This record gives sequence, structure tokens and C-alpha cells, in this order.
Amino acid sequence: MSASCGLCGRDLEDGYLCPGDTLALAERLERMPKAYAALAGFLAPASAPPGERVSGSGGSRLPVNEAVLDLRYGGIALVLESWLSDVQASRGWGQPAIQGGVEERVRRAARSLSANLEWVASSYPAAGDLAREVREMEGAALSIVGAAPDRGRRIGQCVAVDASGVVCGATIRHQRGETKLVCPWCGYVYEERDFLTLARLQPEEAS
Ligand SMILES: [Zn+2]
Ligand SMILES: [Zn+2]
Repeated sequence: MSASCGLCGRDLEDGYLCPGDTLALAERLERMPKAYAALAGFLAPASAPPGERVSGSGGSRLPVNEAVLDLRYGGIALVLESWLSDVQASRGWGQPAIQGGVEERVRRAARSLSANLEWVASSYPAAGDLAREVREMEGAALSIVGAAPDRGRRIGQCVAVDASGVVCGATIRHQRGETKLVCPWCGYVYEERDFLTLARLQPEEAS
């Protein structure tokens, strides 16, 4: 029987997710609680430039960033938990216990899914959909965190590539006095000698 990866389509001897995408999924699950925590800093709506703050107008706007709200209260935890629940059901196991605050739920569900990854890659037909949804969710979180107001000079986007060949793309900033840059997302470290390489590898600015 021939098989193919449910995410990238690569041919596999058997199973449902290639080793690269399985590793990338493991990395994303490990980062997910951090993504969740990072979103906390972005609950306030993007502030309007000072001159555009007209009092008395825009009274219907919620005082929070709704995209962040969706991901933090529900989004991440619910998506991970529903996949975990389906994985456990497919294995003939009982349903996962859901308890604790949202942060705790994100951590538990991500950890439990990680613990099932070997089985998911080899025996779970929906593995590709699971990997895709986790990747999209991380992308959504990253687009919010990456669009942060200025915190240091923006150097460019992280060019580190994960195991499945996806470029990180998080915004890398330089604070005065720093001699190396650490990607806030994937943790990749750029030493000073890498700064030029980083600059050279920047994707074309979309204008
Ligand atoms: Zn693949
Ligand atoms: Zn990165």
C-alpha cells in the first residue's frame, strides 16, 4: 500500500504524516502555551495614532482586540482539546479530562497531543488536518504578536526554517546594546556575525 503525507503530500511508505511535518507539529505544540501567553500582551486594541483619537466617536468598539480574544478565550484551547478528544476516541480511549483555567487547558492539551504524535503520524488518518490546523492557529497568533507596536528597532523577519521547511517569519527586533538577536517565536539565535545574513535573506517587501 502506498501512502502520502496528509500535509505536504510527500510519498510515504506508510502512515499519514511525514517525519518532517511530525517534528514541526511537535515543535508547534511545544510553543503553543508560549503563544497563548504572548497573546495576553495584545488584548488591548491596536491604538489609533494620537491625532485620530476623537472622543465621543467609535463608542461601539469593544475595548479589546477581538482576534486576540478569540484565540485566548476558546480558540487555542478548544481546537487542541477537540483534536485530542478525537485522537483519544480513535484509539478507543476515554475522553480527556478538561479542567483548570484556559492557560492550563492549553498546556495539558498540547502536551497530551504531543504524547500521541507517534501514533498520530502512523495511524491517524486525519493527521494532516490536525497538523494544518495547528500550523494555521500558530500563524494567526504570530500575525498578532508580530504586528506589535515598536519595541526596539525592527531588523526583519526570522529566516529560521523548521523541520517541515516552513520559514518562521516572526519579527526580529534589536534592543540597544544587544549583541545577539533571539527570535521571540522559535528561539533561534542570531549572533552578530549573522546579522548581515539575516538582512540579506529578507523576503522582498510587499509594497
Ligand atoms: Zn509532510
Ligand atoms: Zn524564528
